[in-house]
Amino acid sequence: MYILLMGPPGAGKGTQAERLIETYGIPQISTGDMFRAAVKEQTPLGLEAKKYMDNGQLVPDAVTVGIVKERLAKDDCKKGFILDGFPRTTSQAVSLDAILQDLGIKLNGVVNIAVPDEELVRRTTGRQICRSCGATYHITFKPSKKAGVCDKCGGALYQRDDDKMETVKKRLSVYAAQTKPLIDYYKNSNLYIEINGAREMDAVFNDIVASLGKSK
Ligand code: ADP
Ligand code: ADP
Ligand code: ZN
Repeated sequence: MYILLMGPPGAGKGTQAERLIETYGIPQISTGDMFRAAVKEQTPLGLEAKKYMDNGQLVPDAVTVGIVKERLAKDDCKKGFILDGFPRTTSQAVSLDAILQDLGIKLNGVVNIAVPDEELVRRTTGRQICRSCGATYHITFKPSKKAGVCDKCGGALYQRDDDKMETVKKRLSVYAAQTKPLIDYYKNSNLYIEINGAREMDAVFNDIVASLGKSK
């Protein structure tokens, strides 16, 4: 199963990917997670990416396409993958088509999770991430049992720098200008699946799995 997961910041891509991994036994490839890991390790890629991420802007296409190309060539992607947060520009989508063609891979579905802006602001500004295992929580919608502590591993929870209100607003405008046009790129293919993401996590998940089942 080769899946693209698209949607604005805070739509629930990571949350749904976490569940899809278990259902399909395939890896999640999140460019955001890859950039955050590089920032944490202060690699040259991380230092470059951080400049853009802190301002709510997209990391340049050439950099982003390079890391995705490298990642998709790894063995664990042979059975499938969930690409979370890539592509985010039409130019990235064109590059992805070329990468997939080289690898002999055909996508099974392009899932776009749609959520209104007010809800996206609530979701991103309340998001908490585990410093140790990366699990995602929400201060109101998915609270950890003990405040500030990860249920899964006991790690400390933190707020992403770019989930502060000011940067969230910037990211939403970058999404509207640069990523939303991508919907048209996929809309006319029979791969495109739009999911109403403004519902409970379980309902969204069931809808995604049912739609992917049909699209096969
Ligand atoms: P969210 O889950 O809130 O949509 P991500 O974790 O996917 O955010 O991305 C965080 C940041 O990482 C983005 O704001 C952007 O700076 C960078 N980033 C992630 N994916 C891409 C991409 N495909 N192209 C360019 N920049 C990206
Ligand atoms: P994305 O990867 O698209 O940026 P996340 O999966 O990280 O989004 O979700 C953003 C925040 O919203 C997280 O704190 C998450 O716990 C919460 N969230 C995700 N899906 C839902 C939902 N259906 N209803 C309420 N909150 C949600
Ligand atoms: Zn944890």
